[in-house]
Amino acid sequence: MTTSSPDTAVASSFEAVRRRIARACRIAGRDASGVVLTAVTKTQPDEALAAALTAGQRVFGENRVQEAEAHWATRRDTPGLELRLIGPLQTNKAVEAVALFDVIETLDRPKLADALAAASTKTGRAPRVLVQVNTGAEPQKAGTLPEEADDMIAHARSLGLNVEGLMCIPPVEEAPGPHFALLRKIARRNGLSVLSMGMSGDYETAIRFGATHVRIGSALFGERN
Ligand SMILES: *Cc1c(COP(=O)(O)O)cnc(C)c1O
Repeated sequence: MTTSSPDTAVASSFEAVRRRIARACRIAGRDASGVVLTAVTKTQPDEALAAALTAGQRVFGENRVQEAEAHWATRRDTPGLELRLIGPLQTNKAVEAVALFDVIETLDRPKLADALAAASTKTGRAPRVLVQVNTGAEPQKAGTLPEEADDMIAHARSLGLNVEGLMCIPPVEEAPGPHFALLRKIARRNGLSVLSMGMSGDYETAIRFGATHVRIGSALFGERN
């Protein structure tokens, strides 16, 4: 195998990112076991997924239900595999999403909570759920507004959904720190322990602000087309 094979390239990217996560944890005085790397495989070819699995990666994020099914259907039984939905979800895809994913990170409106609860009853599967918060209140972005997050969380809990934390995507043109801090504050006052925040460009900052899950795509697999 040459050093330019996709397997080797992906393996060394994983090694580099894991090292940077460990370093960020050390600087923040945190245990590295408290930060889970979610490898984002949206738009990636099959070889990238295979290489990631070979590199020992088991936690993956996908943006679209259909693409995730295509990516993972034949690999769903891989021991330890955890699939996380990190893209917007339409209510008419709730059953498929609940059937496929272990975690749905993008609960952002009461109607979707209702659909997820109904889908859980129907499928007998109950994925863990994160509420996505639109910390920058950007009109084009999905997510519950910060001031509506407490109600959203309470509604989801009242339906029996297993809400374990929050997720955010800060505005691209702003410093991410204040957004991560806001997410952490909303999580704390609601007794939530999971914080999915930080992507390729800002995951070390997110770790400083308490991220428990960082969602990383391009730093592992290269730029997407
Ligand atoms: C694509 C995507 C990521 C990964 O982004 P990179 O910058 O490639 O690391 C993380 N989170 C969400 C919600 C995404 O859509």
